[in-house]
Amino acid sequence: MAQLFFKYGAMNSGKTIEILKVAYNYEEQNKPVAIMTSGLDDRDEIGIVSSRIGLRREGIAIFEETNVFETIKALENAPACVLIDESQFLTKEHVLQLAHIVDELDIPVMAFGLKNDFKNELFEGSEYLLLYADKIEEMKTICWYCHKKATMNMRMIDGKPVYSGEQIQIGGNESYFPVCRKHYFNPLLKGDL
Ligand SMILES: [Zn+2]
Repeated sequence: MAQLFFKYGAMNSGKTIEILKVAYNYEEQNKPVAIMTSGLDDRDEIGIVSSRIGLRREGIAIFEETNVFETIKALENAPACVLIDESQFLTKEHVLQLAHIVDELDIPVMAFGLKNDFKNELFEGSEYLLLYADKIEEMKTICWYCHKKATMNMRMIDGKPVYSGEQIQIGGNESYFPVCRKHYFNPLLKGDL
């Protein structure tokens, strides 16, 4: 039986690299995969799945009006697996469509994304993936400032942490860092272990 997986992790936890690795493994066995990503993320070209280490490939962009279930159903070659990047940006409807892909088409879906935003609130996509996924897995990375596990994402603008503002802000001058809880609240305690 196919399952819906939600693999979440803080910034820089290797989510995209994992997608590209899983895709490679399937394709090595001549099993096609469908790679999809949020159309909201236009830091690179829209629909491109790219990792910080430089690996990238083309995917299908998901926009608000996209019906993910119908998109997968309409593919000429049914994929052996559907891989979703930036799944935090999905809507509740998209997540329900992913569940239908698993339940009705019997195709496993692996969604990768952030769980919490910089205000430490759940993203819509992540909230519903946590509710509907069969399997939930944490991808780990360490805090920018210490050796603890990073569980939160800090937004910095001009070197200062920001705790309010729009949830989704792509392509601005802000940057994001994976941090532990202590350093989420006190990011300037550099090297304080
Ligand atoms: Zn820390």
